[in-house]
Amino acid sequence: MNNNIGSGLWKRAKNVIPGGNMLLSKRPEMFLPDQWPAYFNKAKGCKVWDLDGNELIDMSIMGIGTNILGYGHPEVDEAVQATVTSGNMSTLNCPEEVYLAEKLVELHSWADMVRFSRSGGEANSIAIRIARAFSGRDKVAICGYHGWHDWYLSANLGDDKGLDGHLLPGLNPLGVPRNLQGTVFPFSYNNFEELESLVNLHDIGVIKMEVERNLGPKDNFLHKVRKLATERSIVLIFDECTSGFRETFGGIHKKYDVEPDMAMFGKALGNGYAIAAVIGRREIMNAAQNTFISSTFWTERIGPTAALKTLEVMEREKSWEKITQTGNSIRQGWKILADKYALPVKHWGLPALTGFTFESPQALEYKSLISQEMLAKGYLAANSVYVCTEHTKDVVDGYFDSLDPIFGLIRDCEDGRDVSDLLNGPVCHGGFARLN
Ligand code: PMP
Repeated sequence: MNNNIGSGLWKRAKNVIPGGNMLLSKRPEMFLPDQWPAYFNKAKGCKVWDLDGNELIDMSIMGIGTNILGYGHPEVDEAVQATVTSGNMSTLNCPEEVYLAEKLVELHSWADMVRFSRSGGEANSIAIRIARAFSGRDKVAICGYHGWHDWYLSANLGDDKGLDGHLLPGLNPLGVPRNLQGTVFPFSYNNFEELESLVNLHDIGVIKMEVERNLGPKDNFLHKVRKLATERSIVLIFDECTSGFRETFGGIHKKYDVEPDMAMFGKALGNGYAIAAVIGRREIMNAAQNTFISSTFWTERIGPTAALKTLEVMEREKSWEKITQTGNSIRQGWKILADKYALPVKHWGLPALTGFTFESPQALEYKSLISQEMLAKGYLAANSVYVCTEHTKDVVDGYFDSLDPIFGLIRDCEDGRDVSDLLNGPVCHGGFARLN
């Protein structure tokens, strides 16, 4: 398989774009340095065509979770094209933002009002500003990944291990003002005592957390957090940028029957078009009017148009049920292969965002080997699948037929074969700290 054009362009990119691109998770080094195709020419359904004309089935991160309905969904694209034809921008506002706000409120009985942005990090910053304005308190307890902004990275100012358990191990918050130190306090998921002691020690006004990432709640965790927040008049925010619409029609908190005061959605809301939302209770959301939160392109029309059509298709197709079922079958497939070759494997993630890790000191080598060998067979693949409705049974079956002999190679390596003899290039990066 040729990927000369993509690799060449990535080298040029690094000369003119610091880091090569704008999103860590799409850097080729995260998958397969020097060999990953890096750029796409076309994307449709669950397929991607690279710059060298290779047709690849995406069994990896599917645009990092943006396209639950698959790439280029015909109905969503048609709605967007109609917007392009009739006009995306004007001095007046687009009506779709009102319809979308009404729809999101209808899906979440506890919420009354909505603000929109175009990225998840922005939605998180908006929510924090509103919550701080409402509570009158600066200090925030967090659990999870909430973007790149100063408010969040300040958690690593005092202790650069602050965000270690939250997807960003070893991150250096250079450029974040030092005087934000002591404003954000991380707590571990399912560790209620840790959160309670933070609340007792500091004047916490806001708790922001992902409802569920790699593990589910244990021992009534979410309900305990809700009770604590209510008792101490703390604004409770659920960051559903990634979990939203994966397992329920709306926030995954609906599954656990626990209601926050605010929630954010992003990623999948526009099926690939940029749109993110902050929803919340009326008295809290109204605090947005006591501060200043305003941006030009939060008013463009493609985002809410795409989201309205995406929600209509999701509701009709019950996409959250389909992707959960497919994700469970993929996890089952990995288990079967791991058992067949007696490889110890750890499974993680929501069913629709399912992943696994080899429990071996050579885990990154094996992940790279999978990406390399699967690429040769026409797949974008690593060790996690962000499932879309276009991942049909045939697609999944074909994927496992291709993956089976690669697990066999990994078995050989566990038995002494040198994995570096099998790899044609460097090993993938394992996290933020090693990448620059
Ligand atoms: N919150 C969560 C829970 C996320 O998963 C992400 C993205 N991975 C973000 C916020 C940030 O979203 P964005 O990359 O669109 O800024």
